[in-house]
Amino acid sequence: VVSPPPVHNSLASTKKQNGDTNNAGEGRLQIVNEHQEFTKELSPYLAKWGLLDKGFAYDVVSVFGSQSTGKSTLLNRLFGTSFDVMDETKRQQTTKGIWMCPSIYGNTLVMDVEGTDGRERGEDQDFERKSALFSLASTEVLIVNLWEHQIGLYNGANMGLLKTVFEVNLGLFGGGGDSSKPKPQEKTLILFVIRDHVGATPVSNLTATLTQDMEKIWASLSKPSHLADATLSSYFDLSFATLPHKVLMPEKFESEVVELRKRFTDRSRPDYVFQPSYHKRIPADGVGFYMEGIWQQVLTNKDLDLPTQQELLAQFRCDELSAAVTEAFLASSKAVRRPVEAGQVVDGLGALMKDWLETALGKFDRDASRYHAGVYQRKRSDLLAGLHASLSSLFLGQLKNLHKIETAKFSKDIVKGTKEVGYDFAKVVTEGKEQARERFLEGAKEVKIDGTDWEYEHELALLDEDLKVIADRCRADETKKMVNTIERNIKRQLLEPVEVALSQPSPKMWDTVLKTYQSVSEDAEESYLTKAKAYNCSEEENEHALASLRARAWLSLRRKLEEQTSDATILATLRSTFEERFRYDEAGVPRVWKPEDDIESAFTKAKEETLALLPLFATVSPTTSSLLPKLPSPETSFDAESDPIPFDPSTAFVLLSPTKLLSLETRFKREADAAYVEAKRSMVSSVAQ
Ligand code: GDP
Ligand code: MG
Repeated sequence: VVSPPPVHNSLASTKKQNGDTNNAGEGRLQIVNEHQEFTKELSPYLAKWGLLDKGFAYDVVSVFGSQSTGKSTLLNRLFGTSFDVMDETKRQQTTKGIWMCPSIYGNTLVMDVEGTDGRERGEDQDFERKSALFSLASTEVLIVNLWEHQIGLYNGANMGLLKTVFEVNLGLFGGGGDSSKPKPQEKTLILFVIRDHVGATPVSNLTATLTQDMEKIWASLSKPSHLADATLSSYFDLSFATLPHKVLMPEKFESEVVELRKRFTDRSRPDYVFQPSYHKRIPADGVGFYMEGIWQQVLTNKDLDLPTQQELLAQFRCDELSAAVTEAFLASSKAVRRPVEAGQVVDGLGALMKDWLETALGKFDRDASRYHAGVYQRKRSDLLAGLHASLSSLFLGQLKNLHKIETAKFSKDIVKGTKEVGYDFAKVVTEGKEQARERFLEGAKEVKIDGTDWEYEHELALLDEDLKVIADRCRADETKKMVNTIERNIKRQLLEPVEVALSQPSPKMWDTVLKTYQSVSEDAEESYLTKAKAYNCSEEENEHALASLRARAWLSLRRKLEEQTSDATILATLRSTFEERFRYDEAGVPRVWKPEDDIESAFTKAKEETLALLPLFATVSPTTSSLLPKLPSPETSFDAESDPIPFDPSTAFVLLSPTKLLSLETRFKREADAAYVEAKRSMVSSVAQ
């Protein structure tokens, strides 16, 4: 339904020129047309009229009365509206319907109801009843327009109209079960405007008559039983005004209209009509939905109780408002979602989140709190839960990213810390851990939102676990490095004593070797334990490292012994022992064999004595068995599995097998024999000279 172009009367135009900002110029709107259809344009029009964001700061007035009693004329004069006035020349009623137009004198919506007097024309009173219901559901002030001479005509059309008004009002506001007392917003002011007031009858008489009539009508209503005792005054306040004949006394009419207008605009007057108790408490941004809903209810002849309507309205509007703030909320959070999902820690994320929440809730509270309190609270907690849920993924994301970044930083810190000279590993780890935890907690607290059941303890526990794993790994690396260093020391320390001992074979040589081995091993363990203290190693770790160290120490000795008992080394040792005895005399002087010398027995002696030494190399056999070291258990990090000999008690001390001994013996004998032949030859040649 589109309104015709705005119609300005002179007064309205004057006002406009004076800079009045009211959008009365946007014209009127037919909110219900002759087909009883409700307009879709109400909210847009309210917006155009500048009323949509007024909250409760607006008023509604509507008019009732017989046809052609000058209702539209009165409204236009009073409020500067542009309702159709009956064409004098045709005397024809305008189409049925309900029109709305803003007053140019403040935030007042004026409703002009056409065709409410079907009874006069013999039509059914269906529309009259519907429009009465509709008007009372939203109107604060109901102007009842009537001519002076109609007063007292109890059975006149007006009275029928008022009876309808009272009846439907009981249905609207009286239905609430045990709440037989009407609430403040259930009251409506009826302002009788007595037209064509001549002045012969005093106003007080007229108002007394009208009041009596009202009481009579009220008494004659068939009220529901729980409202049997309800009085007229608990639902309606009555007020009165008179206006002179517009055509006969146009100037006086005009000046009294101006006077009457003050009762709609001047809050300071005692007869100011828009008292808060008449307000139906429908926020302006809900008027469109509410009125349409009321009209649909009216049309389907369903019971219309306003509390239910208000709840429905509240649900609808709160949902709308909630959706709108949620959309804005999601839009602002979108930019931050990506970096969080990409693993970044967003600085000040908590503050941002709180800001979005505050903005969303602030806007929702401002607009939604005007609606039904219970519904508003419920929708608010729904909204809050929704917003929290949407933020919780950011919260969890941030925690995860904090965790990731702190573990990485911790690893780095340890590496950096262990590069410093004289670092204390335990201290590096403890401090690094503390700092990582602190930073995590700070970040987690910043991003947590009060009033949620969000928790970061779980993530913190995971972080602690990871930090421990990292520290343990680093310590293991460090310990391994340390054990490697100690192992190298062991090898170095064993090298010379073993070589020296085995190059001078004697039954005591094993004693020397094993004693050296024992002291080197002990030193190594002690050195490990001293250093391990700084690493805060656990008992278990120490045991593990020491076991490894013992195994490596033993293996070092064993390898060294194997090296010293290789064929070449043994043969060289035997050769030099033999030569010492055969080629040199007791004084260490090289022998020059003479014919009288008994080369043969000297040779035999030297050979036998040397050969007697060979079995010494076969097994590690100290003079006292207590010198034999306890064999360590093979340590898995070594190739113990592929080479079990060094750790098997039956073979660990065996260096040469009987076969090997035999072959060495044979090889040695051959060398010795060669030396003998050589000696013989040299003697023969010296004799020959
Ligand atoms: P409505 O049908 O009640 O809205 O009446 P209108 O405002 O359309 O006016 C109907 C007729 O009454 C028009 O011809 C007006 O000129 C005339 N009229 C308007 N005001 C007055 C008034 O104060 N007294 C009388 N007697 N006629 C009026
Ligand atoms: Mg009219």
